[in-house]
Order: sequence, then C-alpha cells, then structure tokens
Amino acid sequence: MKITKELIKERFNEYNQKYFSGVLGECEFHLFPKTTGFLGAYSNRVDRKGKPKDRIWIGTCVKWNETLLRDVLVHEMIHLYNHRIDGRKHDGLLGHGRYFRRQVRRIKREFGINVDDRFKKVEFLNPKFQPKRWEMILCWIIDR
Ligand SMILES: [Zn+2]
Repeated sequence: MKITKELIKERFNEYNQKYFSGVLGECEFHLFPKTTGFLGAYSNRVDRKGKPKDRIWIGTCVKWNETLLRDVLVHEMIHLYNHRIDGRKHDGLLGHGRYFRRQVRRIKREFGINVDDRFKKVEFLNPKFQPKRWEMILCWIIDR
C-alpha cells in the first residue's frame, strides 16, 4: 500500500466523521523521509496571523496496510483532539496521559478497535532503516 498525503487526508476525513463526530478541523499532512523511524507524529502551532495550525506526520519506513494506518492516524488524531477539543496543552508527562487514555478507551468501547497496539503490527520496508530498539522507545515516548 503506497502512502500519500492525499490518502492520509481521505482517511483523516473518514475517521474524523466516524470516530470523532466530525469535530476535528483542518489539518496539514506531511510525510517523514523513509530513513526516519517514526510512524506518526502530531504538532501544532499558531501562524503569523494568529490562526491555529495542526499537522500530522506519517512515516514512510514501514509497510502500510489499512489497519496499521487507521491505528497510527487515529492515535495522532487523539493528540489533536486532546489539544483542540479538550484544551490540553500537555497531557501527562509524555502526551499519553489521562485525556489521551480516555479517548483510546472510548474508541475501543464504541467501535471495538484498539488503536494502541500498533507496534505489534509494524513491518519495516528496509532493515537498514529500521530503528534500533532504543530509537523505537524514544519514538514512542516523544511521538506527540
Ligand atoms: Zn502519541
């Protein structure tokens, strides 16, 4: 499955309606280079005109399938939700605190999917670019 910004945008719109009642607003999408061991990341800022900007980054170092993309994308969308809807600038030490867990549980309860076991499913495209274990842990910690 080839990952593109257009595909991410399509899935984002679909999951926004499906799992978040369409409350998440505009978002920009970016791809990490394949040498970067990240699966996904969320970041936000306020632009020069004072307009809030949300960004989701998706990695290109792994073999994507619909389930993995859904789980990674929904994970990042929960960060967006925590920031914009819950108004949490920080949620726990690593961004996966109480508010984050609450959304993971809600999605599990309402839709029967666990978006949080994504690391079990990952298959890397090129072993050369596979992150080392400590990098995986670091990514997991800072992937907010
Ligand atoms: Zn995260």
